[in-house]
Amino acid sequence: MKQVDYIIVGQGLAGTCTALSLLREKQTVVVVAGADKKASSEVAAGLFNPITGKKMVLTWNAKELFPYLLQFYAQAEEELKIKILYPKKIYRPFSDMQAQNDFWAKSTEESAVFAAAEPDNDAYTPYINNPFGGISTNFSGYLDVKTFIQAVQNKLQDSGAFMHETLAYEDLIFEKEFVQYKDIRAKKIIFAEGYHNKENPYFKWVPVQGMKGDVLTLDIEDYPLQDVVNKHFFIIPLPNGSFRMGSSYIRQFEDDLPTIAGLKEITEGANTILKKPFVVTNQQAGIRPVVPDHRPIIGPHPENPLAVIINGLGTKGVSLSPFAARELVKFLLLGQEIDKSVSVNRFNYLYFIQKKN
Ligand SMILES: Cc1cc2nc3c(=O)[nH]c(=O)nc-3n(C[C@H](O)[C@H](O)[C@H](O)COP(=O)(O)OP(=O)(O)OC[C@H]3O[C@@H](n4cnc5c(N)ncnc54)[C@H](O)[C@@H]3O)c2cc1C
Repeated sequence: MKQVDYIIVGQGLAGTCTALSLLREKQTVVVVAGADKKASSEVAAGLFNPITGKKMVLTWNAKELFPYLLQFYAQAEEELKIKILYPKKIYRPFSDMQAQNDFWAKSTEESAVFAAAEPDNDAYTPYINNPFGGISTNFSGYLDVKTFIQAVQNKLQDSGAFMHETLAYEDLIFEKEFVQYKDIRAKKIIFAEGYHNKENPYFKWVPVQGMKGDVLTLDIEDYPLQDVVNKHFFIIPLPNGSFRMGSSYIRQFEDDLPTIAGLKEITEGANTILKKPFVVTNQQAGIRPVVPDHRPIIGPHPENPLAVIINGLGTKGVSLSPFAARELVKFLLLGQEIDKSVSVNRFNYLYFIQKKN
Protein backbone atom coordinates (compact mmCIF):
# COMPACT_ATOMS: atom_id res chain seq x y z
CA MET A 1 0.00 0.00 0.00
CA LYS A 2 1.38 3.43 -0.97
CA GLN A 3 0.99 6.12 1.75
CA VAL A 4 0.79 9.81 0.84
CA ASP A 5 -0.45 12.92 2.56
CA TYR A 6 -2.98 13.92 -0.12
CA ILE A 7 -4.71 12.53 -3.17
CA ILE A 8 -5.66 15.30 -5.59
CA VAL A 9 -8.34 14.64 -8.22
CA GLY A 10 -7.96 16.82 -11.32
CA GLN A 11 -5.01 18.64 -12.79
CA GLY A 12 -6.31 21.86 -14.23
CA LEU A 13 -5.09 25.11 -12.67
CA ALA A 14 -6.74 24.30 -9.33
CA GLY A 15 -5.19 20.83 -8.98
CA THR A 16 -1.82 21.98 -10.34
CA CYS A 17 -1.46 24.98 -8.01
CA THR A 18 -2.64 22.86 -5.06
CA ALA A 19 -0.14 20.09 -5.85
CA LEU A 20 2.72 22.55 -6.26
CA SER A 21 1.82 24.44 -3.07
CA LEU A 22 1.75 21.17 -1.10
CA LEU A 23 5.04 19.95 -2.58
CA ARG A 24 6.63 23.24 -1.57
CA GLU A 25 5.56 22.44 2.00
CA LYS A 26 7.25 19.00 1.74
CA GLN A 27 3.94 17.15 1.60
CA THR A 28 3.50 14.01 -0.51
CA VAL A 29 0.74 13.83 -3.12
CA VAL A 30 -0.71 11.62 -5.80
CA VAL A 31 -2.62 13.39 -8.56
CA VAL A 32 -5.33 11.49 -10.42
CA ALA A 33 -6.42 13.28 -13.59
CA GLY A 34 -8.68 11.91 -16.26
CA ALA A 35 -7.95 11.79 -19.95
CA ASP A 36 -11.64 11.65 -20.86
CA LYS A 37 -12.52 14.71 -18.72
CA LYS A 38 -11.52 17.78 -20.66
CA ALA A 39 -10.01 20.61 -18.58
CA SER A 40 -11.06 24.22 -19.00
CA SER A 41 -7.40 24.99 -18.30
CA GLU A 42 -6.41 23.26 -21.57
CA VAL A 43 -7.91 26.09 -23.59
CA ALA A 44 -7.56 29.05 -21.19
CA ALA A 45 -5.87 32.04 -22.80
CA GLY A 46 -4.06 32.61 -19.52
CA LEU A 47 -4.76 36.30 -19.13
CA PHE A 48 -4.48 37.93 -15.71
CA ASN A 49 -6.01 41.35 -15.59
CA PRO A 50 -6.66 43.47 -12.49
CA ILE A 51 -9.13 45.82 -14.23
CA THR A 52 -12.06 43.77 -15.49
CA GLY A 53 -15.58 43.85 -16.88
CA LYS A 54 -17.44 46.31 -19.05
CA LYS A 55 -17.19 48.92 -16.31
CA MET A 56 -13.42 48.48 -16.01
CA VAL A 57 -13.35 48.13 -12.25
CA LEU A 58 -10.68 46.74 -9.97
CA THR A 59 -11.22 43.00 -9.69
CA TRP A 60 -12.05 41.37 -6.33
CA ASN A 61 -9.13 41.19 -3.89
CA ALA A 62 -6.67 42.50 -6.52
CA LYS A 63 -4.27 43.88 -3.92
CA GLU A 64 -3.71 40.42 -2.53
CA LEU A 65 -4.11 38.29 -5.67
CA PHE A 66 -1.83 40.04 -8.12
CA PRO A 67 1.44 40.43 -6.20
CA TYR A 68 1.05 36.83 -5.01
CA LEU A 69 0.35 35.31 -8.43
CA LEU A 70 3.45 36.98 -9.89
CA GLN A 71 5.56 35.56 -7.09
CA PHE A 72 3.92 32.11 -7.29
CA TYR A 73 4.43 31.60 -11.04
CA ALA A 74 7.91 33.17 -11.04
CA GLN A 75 8.92 30.62 -8.40
CA ALA A 76 7.41 27.85 -10.57
CA GLU A 77 9.56 29.04 -13.50
CA GLU A 78 12.67 28.63 -11.36
CA GLU A 79 11.66 25.30 -9.83
CA LEU A 80 10.58 23.73 -13.11
CA LYS A 81 13.09 25.48 -15.42
CA ILE A 82 10.37 26.76 -17.74
CA LYS A 83 9.17 30.06 -19.18
CA ILE A 84 5.47 30.57 -18.45
CA LEU A 85 4.97 34.09 -17.14
CA TYR A 86 4.57 36.90 -19.67
CA PRO A 87 3.98 40.20 -17.84
CA LYS A 88 2.37 42.59 -20.32
CA LYS A 89 0.48 45.81 -20.25
CA ILE A 90 -3.15 45.47 -21.25
CA TYR A 91 -4.36 48.39 -23.34
CA ARG A 92 -8.11 48.89 -22.82
CA PRO A 93 -9.72 51.33 -25.26
CA PHE A 94 -12.84 53.08 -23.95
CA SER A 95 -16.04 52.20 -25.81
CA ASP A 96 -17.36 55.81 -25.67
CA MET A 97 -16.99 59.19 -23.94
CA GLN A 98 -19.25 58.07 -21.11
CA ALA A 99 -16.98 55.09 -20.33
CA GLN A 100 -13.97 57.39 -20.30
CA ASN A 101 -15.61 59.85 -17.88
CA ASP A 102 -16.96 57.06 -15.65
CA PHE A 103 -13.58 55.40 -15.39
CA TRP A 104 -11.71 58.47 -14.25
CA ALA A 105 -14.58 59.55 -11.95
CA LYS A 106 -14.59 56.15 -10.22
CA SER A 107 -10.83 55.76 -10.15
CA THR A 108 -9.54 55.39 -6.60
CA GLU A 109 -6.06 55.55 -5.15
CA GLU A 110 -6.14 51.77 -5.02
CA SER A 111 -7.19 51.25 -8.66
CA ALA A 112 -4.64 53.85 -9.77
CA VAL A 113 -1.90 51.41 -8.72
CA PHE A 114 -3.22 48.96 -11.31
CA ALA A 115 -4.19 51.36 -14.11
CA ALA A 116 -1.42 53.46 -15.60
CA ALA A 117 -2.14 57.10 -16.35
CA GLU A 118 -2.99 58.10 -19.93
CA PRO A 119 -1.04 55.76 -22.23
CA ASP A 120 0.30 56.86 -25.62
CA ASN A 121 -3.02 56.31 -27.41
CA ASP A 122 -1.64 57.44 -30.77
CA ALA A 123 0.82 54.54 -30.83
CA TYR A 124 -2.12 52.11 -31.00
CA THR A 125 -4.26 54.07 -33.49
CA PRO A 126 -2.75 52.68 -36.75
CA TYR A 127 -3.71 49.15 -35.69
CA ILE A 128 -6.86 49.31 -33.58
CA ASN A 129 -9.98 51.43 -33.19
CA ASN A 130 -9.50 53.66 -30.15
CA PRO A 131 -11.30 56.97 -30.87
CA PHE A 132 -11.93 57.63 -27.14
CA GLY A 133 -8.47 56.72 -25.91
CA GLY A 134 -7.95 54.08 -23.26
CA ILE A 135 -6.10 52.95 -20.17
CA SER A 136 -3.17 50.67 -19.69
CA THR A 137 -2.87 48.25 -16.78
CA ASN A 138 0.00 47.25 -14.50
CA PHE A 139 0.45 43.83 -12.81
CA SER A 140 -1.14 42.20 -15.88
CA GLY A 141 -0.10 39.74 -18.58
CA TYR A 142 -0.63 36.11 -19.44
CA LEU A 143 0.46 32.71 -18.25
CA ASP A 144 1.35 29.88 -20.62
CA VAL A 145 -1.08 27.58 -18.82
CA LYS A 146 -0.42 24.53 -20.97
CA THR A 147 3.34 24.56 -20.38
CA PHE A 148 2.81 25.14 -16.63
CA ILE A 149 0.41 22.21 -16.24
CA GLN A 150 2.53 19.90 -18.39
CA ALA A 151 5.71 20.73 -16.45
CA VAL A 152 4.06 19.98 -13.09
CA GLN A 153 2.66 16.78 -14.56
CA ASN A 154 6.15 15.73 -15.72
CA LYS A 155 7.51 16.41 -12.22
CA LEU A 156 4.74 14.30 -10.66
CA GLN A 157 5.24 11.54 -13.20
CA ASP A 158 8.98 11.42 -12.50
CA SER A 159 8.28 10.63 -8.86
CA GLY A 160 5.45 8.17 -9.58
CA ALA A 161 2.88 10.64 -8.21
CA PHE A 162 0.60 10.90 -11.25
CA MET A 163 -2.21 8.57 -12.32
CA HIS A 164 -3.62 9.26 -15.75
CA GLU A 165 -7.16 8.04 -15.20
CA THR A 166 -10.67 9.11 -14.31
CA LEU A 167 -11.20 8.56 -10.61
CA ALA A 168 -13.84 5.90 -10.01
CA TYR A 169 -15.78 7.27 -7.02
CA GLU A 170 -17.04 3.78 -6.14
CA ASP A 171 -13.45 2.69 -5.47
CA LEU A 172 -12.98 5.27 -2.69
CA ILE A 173 -12.97 3.97 0.86
CA PHE A 174 -13.29 6.48 3.70
CA GLU A 175 -12.12 5.32 7.14
CA LYS A 176 -11.83 7.48 10.26
CA GLU A 177 -8.13 8.23 9.84
CA PHE A 178 -7.53 7.81 6.11
CA VAL A 179 -9.03 7.63 2.66
CA GLN A 180 -8.05 4.86 0.28
CA TYR A 181 -8.14 4.77 -3.52
CA LYS A 182 -6.97 1.47 -5.03
CA ASP A 183 -3.51 0.90 -3.46
CA ILE A 184 -3.07 4.48 -2.18
CA ARG A 185 -3.83 5.69 1.32
CA ALA A 186 -3.94 9.38 2.15
CA LYS A 187 -4.85 11.70 5.01
CA LYS A 188 -7.34 13.50 2.79
CA ILE A 189 -8.61 13.65 -0.78
CA ILE A 190 -8.85 17.01 -2.55
CA PHE A 191 -11.31 17.33 -5.43
CA ALA A 192 -10.23 19.88 -8.05
CA GLU A 193 -12.49 18.74 -10.86
CA GLY A 194 -13.67 22.00 -12.38
CA TYR A 195 -17.01 21.75 -14.19
CA HIS A 196 -16.99 17.92 -13.83
CA ASN A 197 -17.68 18.44 -10.12
CA LYS A 198 -21.35 17.94 -10.96
CA GLU A 199 -20.60 14.19 -11.32
CA ASN A 200 -18.95 13.98 -7.86
CA PRO A 201 -21.23 12.23 -5.34
CA TYR A 202 -19.60 14.06 -2.41
CA PHE A 203 -19.73 17.61 -3.72
CA LYS A 204 -22.36 17.73 -6.50
CA TRP A 205 -24.54 19.97 -4.26
CA VAL A 206 -21.96 22.77 -4.55
CA PRO A 207 -23.28 25.35 -7.08
CA VAL A 208 -20.55 25.03 -9.72
CA GLN A 209 -22.15 25.74 -13.09
CA GLY A 210 -20.74 25.55 -16.59
CA MET A 211 -19.97 28.56 -18.77
CA LYS A 212 -18.74 27.42 -22.13
CA GLY A 213 -16.30 29.57 -24.09
CA ASP A 214 -14.52 29.63 -27.44
CA VAL A 215 -11.07 31.05 -28.07
CA LEU A 216 -9.40 31.59 -31.48
CA THR A 217 -5.85 31.68 -32.78
CA LEU A 218 -5.26 34.40 -35.39
CA ASP A 219 -2.61 35.59 -37.79
CA ILE A 220 -2.80 39.39 -38.12
CA GLU A 221 -1.11 41.17 -41.01
CA ASP A 222 1.28 44.05 -40.26
CA TYR A 223 0.44 44.25 -36.54
CA PRO A 224 3.51 44.89 -34.39
CA LEU A 225 1.73 45.66 -31.05
CA GLN A 226 3.20 43.63 -28.21
CA ASP A 227 0.73 44.72 -25.51
CA VAL A 228 -2.46 42.79 -24.93
CA VAL A 229 -5.49 44.70 -26.25
CA ASN A 230 -8.81 44.23 -24.50
CA LYS A 231 -12.03 45.77 -25.72
CA HIS A 232 -14.76 43.33 -24.72
CA PHE A 233 -12.55 40.69 -26.44
CA PHE A 234 -8.84 40.26 -25.73
CA ILE A 235 -6.03 39.93 -28.28
CA ILE A 236 -2.83 38.39 -26.89
CA PRO A 237 0.42 38.44 -28.89
CA LEU A 238 2.24 35.10 -28.59
CA PRO A 239 6.01 34.52 -28.83
CA ASN A 240 5.58 32.67 -32.19
CA GLY A 241 4.03 35.74 -33.86
CA SER A 242 0.42 34.56 -33.81
CA PHE A 243 -2.37 35.85 -31.54
CA ARG A 244 -5.04 34.41 -29.25
CA MET A 245 -8.38 36.11 -29.24
CA GLY A 246 -11.46 35.46 -27.14
CA SER A 247 -13.66 34.66 -25.70
CA SER A 248 -17.33 33.79 -25.89
CA TYR A 249 -19.64 33.16 -22.91
CA ILE A 250 -22.31 30.50 -23.46
CA ARG A 251 -24.61 29.37 -20.64
CA GLN A 252 -26.67 26.79 -22.56
CA PHE A 253 -24.64 24.06 -24.24
CA GLU A 254 -24.70 20.36 -24.97
CA ASP A 255 -21.01 19.58 -25.32
CA ASP A 256 -17.54 21.13 -25.00
CA LEU A 257 -16.86 21.43 -28.75
CA PRO A 258 -16.10 24.71 -30.58
CA THR A 259 -19.24 26.52 -31.79
CA ILE A 260 -20.03 28.38 -35.01
CA ALA A 261 -21.77 31.06 -32.92
CA GLY A 262 -18.54 31.57 -30.93
CA LEU A 263 -16.46 31.81 -34.10
CA LYS A 264 -18.88 34.41 -35.53
CA GLU A 265 -19.03 36.46 -32.32
CA ILE A 266 -15.26 36.66 -31.87
CA THR A 267 -14.48 37.36 -35.55
CA GLU A 268 -17.10 40.14 -35.53
CA GLY A 269 -15.31 41.50 -32.46
CA ALA A 270 -12.00 41.32 -34.32
CA ASN A 271 -13.53 43.28 -37.20
CA THR A 272 -14.60 46.09 -34.87
CA ILE A 273 -11.31 46.26 -32.93
CA LEU A 274 -8.68 45.62 -35.61
CA LYS A 275 -7.75 47.89 -38.49
CA LYS A 276 -5.61 45.17 -40.03
CA PRO A 277 -6.64 42.02 -41.95
CA PHE A 278 -6.55 38.71 -40.07
CA VAL A 279 -7.15 35.00 -40.61
CA VAL A 280 -8.39 32.49 -38.05
CA THR A 281 -6.04 29.50 -37.87
CA ASN A 282 -7.54 27.59 -34.93
CA GLN A 283 -10.53 27.46 -32.59
CA GLN A 284 -10.84 25.77 -29.21
CA ALA A 285 -13.57 25.58 -26.59
CA GLY A 286 -13.88 24.63 -22.94
CA ILE A 287 -16.23 24.87 -19.97
CA ARG A 288 -15.40 27.25 -17.14
CA PRO A 289 -16.47 26.26 -13.61
CA VAL A 290 -18.45 29.33 -12.48
CA VAL A 291 -20.19 30.07 -9.18
CA PRO A 292 -23.10 32.51 -8.72
CA ASP A 293 -21.11 34.81 -6.38
CA HIS A 294 -17.94 34.62 -8.55
CA ARG A 295 -15.69 33.46 -5.69
CA PRO A 296 -13.67 30.26 -5.37
CA ILE A 297 -15.03 27.41 -3.25
CA ILE A 298 -12.54 25.91 -0.82
CA GLY A 299 -12.78 23.60 2.18
CA PRO A 300 -13.96 20.34 3.69
CA HIS A 301 -17.22 18.48 3.16
CA PRO A 302 -19.76 19.38 5.91
CA GLU A 303 -19.89 15.79 7.23
CA ASN A 304 -16.75 14.14 5.86
CA PRO A 305 -13.61 16.05 6.92
CA LEU A 306 -11.42 13.80 4.77
CA ALA A 307 -13.03 15.06 1.53
CA VAL A 308 -12.04 18.57 0.49
CA ILE A 309 -12.90 20.76 -2.51
CA ILE A 310 -11.12 23.51 -4.43
CA ASN A 311 -13.21 24.82 -7.32
CA GLY A 312 -15.16 27.80 -8.69
CA LEU A 313 -12.27 29.56 -10.43
CA GLY A 314 -14.71 30.76 -13.07
CA THR A 315 -13.26 33.09 -15.68
CA LYS A 316 -10.17 33.91 -13.63
CA GLY A 317 -8.34 30.69 -12.92
CA VAL A 318 -4.87 32.16 -13.46
CA SER A 319 -5.23 34.91 -10.85
CA LEU A 320 -7.40 32.98 -8.38
CA SER A 321 -5.71 29.57 -8.27
CA PRO A 322 -2.43 30.48 -6.46
CA PHE A 323 -4.42 32.37 -3.81
CA ALA A 324 -7.05 29.61 -3.48
CA ALA A 325 -4.36 26.93 -3.18
CA ARG A 326 -2.57 28.98 -0.50
CA GLU A 327 -5.81 29.34 1.50
CA LEU A 328 -6.38 25.60 1.25
CA VAL A 329 -2.84 24.70 2.28
CA LYS A 330 -2.99 27.02 5.32
CA PHE A 331 -6.20 25.26 6.31
CA LEU A 332 -4.79 21.76 5.79
CA LEU A 333 -1.40 22.25 7.41
CA LEU A 334 -2.04 24.94 10.02
CA GLY A 335 -5.74 24.50 10.67
CA GLN A 336 -6.22 28.15 9.74
CA GLU A 337 -9.83 29.14 9.14
CA ILE A 338 -10.66 29.66 5.46
CA ASP A 339 -11.73 33.20 4.56
CA LYS A 340 -15.54 33.31 4.71
CA SER A 341 -15.90 34.75 1.22
CA VAL A 342 -14.24 31.69 -0.37
CA SER A 343 -15.11 28.96 2.13
CA VAL A 344 -17.35 26.09 1.04
CA ASN A 345 -19.21 26.71 4.33
CA ARG A 346 -21.22 29.44 2.65
CA PHE A 347 -23.01 26.74 0.64
CA ASN A 348 -23.29 24.01 3.30
CA TYR A 349 -27.04 24.70 3.63
CA LEU A 350 -27.43 23.30 0.10
CA TYR A 351 -25.91 20.01 1.24
CA PHE A 352 -28.36 19.69 4.12
CA ILE A 353 -31.33 20.57 1.89
CA GLN A 354 -30.23 17.92 -0.62
CA LYS A 355 -29.73 15.36 2.17
CA LYS A 356 -33.23 15.96 3.55
CA ASN A 357 -34.86 15.41 0.18
C1 LIG B 1 -12.30 29.83 -23.75
C2 LIG B 1 -11.77 30.04 -22.36
C3 LIG B 1 -10.83 31.03 -22.14
C4 LIG B 1 -10.35 31.26 -20.85
N1 LIG B 1 -9.41 32.22 -20.67
C5 LIG B 1 -8.94 32.48 -19.42
C6 LIG B 1 -7.97 33.47 -19.23
O1 LIG B 1 -7.52 34.12 -20.16
N2 LIG B 1 -7.54 33.70 -17.94
C7 LIG B 1 -8.02 32.98 -16.87
O2 LIG B 1 -7.61 33.24 -15.74
N3 LIG B 1 -8.96 32.02 -17.04
C8 LIG B 1 -9.42 31.74 -18.28
N4 LIG B 1 -10.37 30.77 -18.47
C9 LIG B 1 -10.92 30.11 -17.26
C10 LIG B 1 -10.01 28.99 -16.77
O3 LIG B 1 -9.87 28.06 -17.79
C11 LIG B 1 -10.60 28.35 -15.51
O4 LIG B 1 -10.81 29.30 -14.50
C12 LIG B 1 -9.67 27.29 -14.93
O5 LIG B 1 -8.98 26.64 -15.94
C13 LIG B 1 -10.40 26.28 -14.09
O6 LIG B 1 -9.46 25.38 -13.59
P1 LIG B 1 -9.89 24.08 -12.78
O7 LIG B 1 -8.65 23.37 -12.43
O8 LIG B 1 -10.82 24.45 -11.69
O9 LIG B 1 -10.77 23.21 -13.82
P2 LIG B 1 -10.30 22.45 -15.13
O10 LIG B 1 -9.25 23.17 -15.83
O11 LIG B 1 -11.55 22.16 -15.90
O12 LIG B 1 -9.66 21.11 -14.62
C14 LIG B 1 -10.42 20.04 -14.09
C15 LIG B 1 -9.53 18.81 -13.99
O13 LIG B 1 -10.24 17.77 -13.32
C16 LIG B 1 -10.10 16.56 -14.03
N5 LIG B 1 -11.21 15.69 -13.60
C17 LIG B 1 -12.50 16.00 -13.43
N6 LIG B 1 -13.17 14.95 -12.93
C18 LIG B 1 -12.26 13.96 -12.76
C19 LIG B 1 -12.31 12.63 -12.27
N7 LIG B 1 -13.46 12.05 -11.82
N8 LIG B 1 -11.18 11.89 -12.26
C20 LIG B 1 -10.01 12.42 -12.67
N9 LIG B 1 -9.90 13.68 -13.13
C21 LIG B 1 -11.01 14.44 -13.17
C22 LIG B 1 -10.02 16.99 -15.48
O14 LIG B 1 -9.44 15.99 -16.30
C23 LIG B 1 -9.11 18.22 -15.32
O15 LIG B 1 -7.76 17.79 -15.20
C24 LIG B 1 -10.84 30.49 -19.75
C25 LIG B 1 -11.76 29.47 -19.99
C26 LIG B 1 -12.23 29.24 -21.29
C27 LIG B 1 -13.21 28.13 -21.50
